[in-house]
Formats: sequence, C-alpha cells, structure tokens
Amino acid sequence: MDDKDISNAVIARLPRYYRYLGELKNDRIERVSSRELSRLMHVTASQIRQDFNNFGGFGQQGYGYNVDYLYDEIGKILGLDHIHNMIIIGAGNLGQALVGYMNFKNRGFVFRGAFDISQNVIGKKIGSIEVLPLDDMPEFVRNNNIDIAVLTVPKTAAAGIAKELVECRIKAIWNFAHIDLPVPDSIKVENVHLSDSLMKLSYNLHRSEDDTNTTGAAE
Ligand code: NAD
Repeated sequence: MDDKDISNAVIARLPRYYRYLGELKNDRIERVSSRELSRLMHVTASQIRQDFNNFGGFGQQGYGYNVDYLYDEIGKILGLDHIHNMIIIGAGNLGQALVGYMNFKNRGFVFRGAFDISQNVIGKKIGSIEVLPLDDMPEFVRNNNIDIAVLTVPKTAAAGIAKELVECRIKAIWNFAHIDLPVPDSIKVENVHLSDSLMKLSYNLHRSEDDTNTTGAAE
C-alpha cells in the first residue's frame, strides 16, 4: 500500500506501538499476540490488526508476532533506521532542555548544532554542542547534512527563520513556536503545542469533577 493511503490516525499510533514493543524487547519477550498487545496498550486487538494490515500485517503466524521483527519493521516505517542530523535554533530554556535530552540520540536523532542571536548564550556549551551565531546557520546546514531544524525561538522570529531554512534546503522542521510556518509543502513540519495537551488534561479534569458534582447532587 502507498504511504499516502495510510491515515494520520494510524501513523500517530505507530510511535506508541514502537515504544511498547521496545519494552517487550528489553524484557526479552520473543512473541506477542494482538490480544496481549491489546491488554498492555488498552487498544482493541482488532484495532491493532487493522493498523498492522495497513503495512501487510507483519506476518502474524501461529502464536502472535515476532517482537524483534515487528519492532524493526515499525522502526523502519517511522524512519528510525536512519540517523537524523538536527540543529536547534533558539538556545533558550526549551532549546537547551531539548538538546540536553539524551533519549533523542538513542532513537537516532542527533543534535549537531545550536544557534541563537543573543550574546548571553552564543559561545555557551550545551553538553558537547557550542551555541553559534545565527549567521553561521546556513553554511552549517549545507555542510553537515542537516535534515531537521528544531525551532524554539519567540514566535515573532519564527517565520523569518523558516524562510532562511527553506533557502538552505532543510527537509523538516520541528516547530515549537506558536505560529504556522510559511513553508512549501515539500518541507515537512510538525508543530508541537504542549499547552494543547495541558488543556485536554484540564478538560478531562473538569469534566470528571462536573460528573462527580452531578452524581453527588442527585444523592
Ligand atoms: P527563551 O526566551 O528562554 O528562549 C528563546 C531563545 O530564542 C533565546 O535564547 C533568544 O535569544 C533566541 N532568539 C530570539 N530571536 C531569535 C532569532 N531570530 N534567531 C535565533 N534565536 C533567537 O524562550 P523558551 O521558554 O525557550 O521558549 C522558546 C519558544 O518556544 C517560544 O516561542 C515559546 O513560546 C515556545 N514554547 C513552546 C512550547 C510548546 O509546547 N510548543 C512550550 C514552551 C515554549
């Protein structure tokens, strides 16, 4: 099946499958059935089978799926069999925290450079990475095979930087600034809004409080 036919909802579930399979692999579990996976992940077994059927089903034979094989195949679908060279633009609080988070590297996402305009951070080291002036960014991207730029600048600066990144032929942007970036469709953009997740949590919290109050009032 062509990747274009696979729904975003299925693709959004793949990282979670990958994480759970990684844990099974660490526990040296060799095979897992869709029922067991369903119990672990709180997703129905039929949903799992339907999701996997988008990719040919991953050859469930006899008792369940081969964990190593499934983990590797889902990793390949997610592009995790490649090293991704990344830069961060905006080495403030969030930028420094992201560069310092080691788990990205374990998945093949490697920060190669960090850029900023502030003299307060230029020259500073985040782990082994020195923050460089933004002016050095275009040449660095071209010379270091950078495919992903992570944007952690104020939103007023983000659109201008995105235009520069387009000129440097960046392939993908992980955008934390709260703005839709003006880039061509050929450049993949993933917007991250932590506050959306927090608002969802708030909604669920208040909905459950309302339910409790309603039930309490009826008693
Ligand atoms: P911060 O002020 O600590 O860091 C911003 C950094 O960007 C600073 O070091 C600043 O010098 C640099 N900068 C400013 N203009 C620049 C430019 N033109 N080029 C390069 N660097 C430039 O802010 P923060 O708390 O790290 O937040 C960074 C961004 O991430 C903000 O836009 C914020 O709203 C956003 N943010 C998003 C989320 C999310 O979930 N999406 C969460 C937290 C923060």
